[in-house]
Amino acid sequence: MKKTMLLLILVLVAVPGNGQESGDAALLKAMHTISSHDLMGYVIEQTDEKYEGRLTGTPGYQMCAEWLAGEFEEWGLAPGGDDGSWFQWFDIPYTLVYPDCGLTLHMPLKDGSGLQKHYRYISEYMPGSTSGNGTVTGEVVYAGYGITAPELGYDDYSKVDVKGKIILIESEAPVSPSAGPEKFNPWYEHSFHQSKLANAAAHGAIGMIYNYGPIANPNNAYIEDFIYVHVGDTIVRDIFAGTGLNYETVVGEIKTTLKPRSFNTKKVVTVKMSTQHFPDGRGSNVIGVLSGSDPELGKEAVIIGAHLDHLGKCYEIIPGANDNASAVAVMMGVARALAENKITLKRTVIFLSFGAEEQAIVGAKAYLDDPLMPLEKSVLLNMDGVGIGHSIRAAAGLDFPVLWSFIEEVNNSYIHRPLSANHFPNHGRPRLDAARFLAVGVPSISFSTFGSANYYHVPLDNLDIIKPEIMEDLAQLLFMAVVNMANSSSPLR
Ligand SMILES: [Zn+2]
Repeated sequence: MKKTMLLLILVLVAVPGNGQESGDAALLKAMHTISSHDLMGYVIEQTDEKYEGRLTGTPGYQMCAEWLAGEFEEWGLAPGGDDGSWFQWFDIPYTLVYPDCGLTLHMPLKDGSGLQKHYRYISEYMPGSTSGNGTVTGEVVYAGYGITAPELGYDDYSKVDVKGKIILIESEAPVSPSAGPEKFNPWYEHSFHQSKLANAAAHGAIGMIYNYGPIANPNNAYIEDFIYVHVGDTIVRDIFAGTGLNYETVVGEIKTTLKPRSFNTKKVVTVKMSTQHFPDGRGSNVIGVLSGSDPELGKEAVIIGAHLDHLGKCYEIIPGANDNASAVAVMMGVARALAENKITLKRTVIFLSFGAEEQAIVGAKAYLDDPLMPLEKSVLLNMDGVGIGHSIRAAAGLDFPVLWSFIEEVNNSYIHRPLSANHFPNHGRPRLDAARFLAVGVPSISFSTFGSANYYHVPLDNLDIIKPEIMEDLAQLLFMAVVNMANSSSPLR
C-alpha cells in the first residue's frame, strides 16, 4: 500500500516536469484536436465498398487515393508527388479474383466409383490472389518448401517428378529468419513467394497448394495458366491421410536434417480458380508535405508512412480495416492537427501513403527510387495495423535509440500506453514498407498495435475489430513526437 502511494506521488510530480520540456499549452491543445471520432470516420471511409478493397491498380484504389489527396489539400498540406501533383505513379500489374473458385479432393472407392470432398472458402481455403485462370486436376506431390538451392545442396524437387502434377508446399524456408542472419540469409531469396511459384512452374507443375493458411495475399507473381490456392490444416491433413507418413514428423525432419522429404501422395485434387489479370495496371503513392521553416534543418525529412492499399476482392471484398485503414487514419490525424493548427516545424514532415504494399512493397520502392528529399537526410515512422488492442509495438525501435527516445518520452509524459520495441528480423524481405527503407539505410521504426482479436488478410478484418481509442492515443503520441523530432537541435540519425 505504502509503495503504491509513493509511486503515485512520484508519477504526479514527474508529469509537469516532462510536460514543460515537451511543449506549451498551445501544443497540447493542438494534440487534443485529434479525436477517435474523426479517426474512426477515416477508417469507415476507406473500407467503403466503393473503393473495392483498395487493390493498387484498380479504379477503386485510385478513387480512395484521390479522396485522401483531397483531405490533404483541404487541411493545407502541399502536394509532393509527380509534377506538382499529389500522386507518385508506378506500374503495378494486378489480378482480380472472382467467386467461381473451388478446391476438391477426389476419393476413389473400391467398387470403382468415388466420392468428392469440397472444401470451404475462407475456413479451409482461399484463392491464390495472383493465380492464373482455369481448372486443373492432378496427383498431389508433397514438395517440402518448394526450394531448389544448388548452392546449399538442397532441392525439394530432386527425387520427385512433378510434371503435370499439383504440388503441396510450405511457406518460408527450412531455416527461419529467427535463426539469425548468418543462418537465414542463404535461404533469403528462396523464401519469397515469387521464387516458389516460379520454381514450381519451371519444374512443370500445373498447380500449387500453398500451405500458407487460408488467407489472401497478392504478394506473388502471376504466371499465365499456373493455378494455385492457399490452404489451412484440414486439407494438408487430408492429403497426408493414408500415406503412412505423419505431417509434423516430415516437416520436422526437413528442418532438422535440411534434407528434402518430397513424395507423391497419390491423392487427386481439382483446383478451380476464376481470375483475370491486368498486366498494364498503374498505381500511385499519395504524398502530402509540410515544409520545414529552418533554412538548414528544413532540408531534412521526418516521414510518416502508412500503406493505403489492401487486397481488393478475394473473392468478396476484404475491407482491411486494421490493415491498413487504421494506420492511414492515424497518419491523417497527425497531418490535420499539424496543418490546421499551423504548428511550427523546423524540419520538413512528409506524409507518405504507400500504394502496393500488399503487392511486394512496390510503392515504397517507387518512392526510394525517386525520393522527394535525400534519403540520407530522412527518417521514417511507419505504421501497419494500428487499430486493435491496447498496446503499441515498434519494430526496429531498439535499432534506432535516438528516434526511439522521442517516442518513449512522449509516451511517458502524456499517453501512458504499454509500449514495446524490438530489433527488426525482416532482413529486407518485401513484406513491410519499413523493410525497404531499412534495406537502403534509412532509420525506420514501424508501429503496430495488439491485445485484442485480429484477423489478418480475411474479410473479418472489418470495422467490428477496430478500437478507436488506441488510434487516438497513437496519433497523439506521434503528433507530439514528430513536433519534437522536427524541432530538435540535435541530429536525428
Ligand atoms: Zn499492412
